[in-house]
Amino acid sequence: MTISKKISLAGLVVLTAGAVILLYMAMQIAYGSRAFYKGPSSYLPPLAIGLLTAVGVIAIQRRAARRSMARICQQIGNMADTREAGMVMLEDTDELAEITRPLNRFISMVAQQNTELQAENRELGIEARIASAEKRNTEAIIFSISDAVIVTNRFDELMLANEAAEKLFGFKLDNALRKNIDRITSDGTFVRLIRETRNHARSQTRKMVEHVMEYEHEPRTFRITLSCVAGAGDDVSGVVAVLHDVTREKEIAQMKTDFVSNVSHELKTPLASIKAYIEMLMDGEAEDEATQEEFYEIISSETNRLHRLIENILNISRIESGVVKVVREPLDLTGVVKQAVDVLSPQAKLKDIEFVSHLAPVYYQVEADRDMIYQAVLNLISNAVKYTPNGGKVTVSAVVDERRNVVICEVADTGLGIPADALPHIFDKFYRVKQSQKIAKGTGLGLTLVKHIIETVHDGKLSVRSEEGEGSTFSFELPVIE
Ligand code: ADP
Repeated sequence: MTISKKISLAGLVVLTAGAVILLYMAMQIAYGSRAFYKGPSSYLPPLAIGLLTAVGVIAIQRRAARRSMARICQQIGNMADTREAGMVMLEDTDELAEITRPLNRFISMVAQQNTELQAENRELGIEARIASAEKRNTEAIIFSISDAVIVTNRFDELMLANEAAEKLFGFKLDNALRKNIDRITSDGTFVRLIRETRNHARSQTRKMVEHVMEYEHEPRTFRITLSCVAGAGDDVSGVVAVLHDVTREKEIAQMKTDFVSNVSHELKTPLASIKAYIEMLMDGEAEDEATQEEFYEIISSETNRLHRLIENILNISRIESGVVKVVREPLDLTGVVKQAVDVLSPQAKLKDIEFVSHLAPVYYQVEADRDMIYQAVLNLISNAVKYTPNGGKVTVSAVVDERRNVVICEVADTGLGIPADALPHIFDKFYRVKQSQKIAKGTGLGLTLVKHIIETVHDGKLSVRSEEGEGSTFSFELPVIE
């Protein structure tokens, strides 16, 4: 029993005794007895005792309650200081002992909730760390991709882009983040593709589109892969666009197609001519010996052309595929040039072309494959003779630039010259200037081979200067060996 209860009980007994005395006095007044009642002052002692008892009981109860409250406050204060929930402990006799049971139930409930929240919080913390690590990984992957990557959200705003995308679209990620895609690029088709993918698609959708875009002032073909980023349920929360530049692949595919069709065409022409002349010979259409001789000449020259063509094609493809066997040896370039000049002199004489050569002393040597260099020099001089009209002049020189330590071989002619718009193409396979096709036969492979021999195989430099109607000068240089 609590103190205040005990006191209350004692107080009640005293008050009841006072009340009984007062009642007894009242009865004596009523029946005229005077044993206790000695006038109105006889009420005072029991009344005073009653009042004093009541005041005393209240005061004692308040003190007991204050003490209990102080104990409770101290214990709760301790819990708050140590941040550890515990039990509020009071003596059974304590004034507020009864409050501790519901209070402790409440504290333990809050403590349990707190523990659960802490566990949840820890889990959320771990999940957040995992998510941010995953985000960093994804970003690292996206940034390491050489293709342009753009990620937009459900409002078509830019969420992520790598360096290639920044370059392609000309923006800086920091400034462009959260901007709508139509403010990042003026390419309407690309913007439409992003919007369409987000609008009409479900999360699994992926599509591929080829699209030509302007990049560094040049039209380039991109294969764009558009995928939806899955949101909650079947929702689409954004779009990932990967732009792969396929311009070069397309060019190579086109070059292969062109090459095959060019080769077939170039082979067909001499073959058709050989076939026709053989048939005429077999049908006896060449009656006299002179005509037969003429037919044999044509067959022989076409066969030579076919042979040259196949040789050139094989040599070019061997060099391009890297399987060519190169025998490098110290070589006197002057000797090689002289040999080529001697071989082509008769042809030049037939056209009344003046042949001039300036050759450096033989002790300057380069390290090169003799046969290949001979082939290159022969092609250049033979072109000069071929594309120079009768009575023209061809000058061949091999000089040394001692300052740069290189031998420069130059073949200059006073022939047709090359139109300015054709100049960038003359080293392309099968390319022939239209005007020169009427002047001489050719395959359009000679200069391609020369370029490969000088630049791909020997790391040298080949260049051309030409003016239409004035003539051309082809030159190449190779380093001199000490
Ligand atoms: P081709 O077998 O046709 O001579 P090339 O590859 O050697 O093939 O030359 C390519 C084209 O470059 C020629 O068809 C010709 O139009 C032009 N060309 C090459 N050399 C000369 C030159 N010295 N003068 C004028 N045009 C030339």
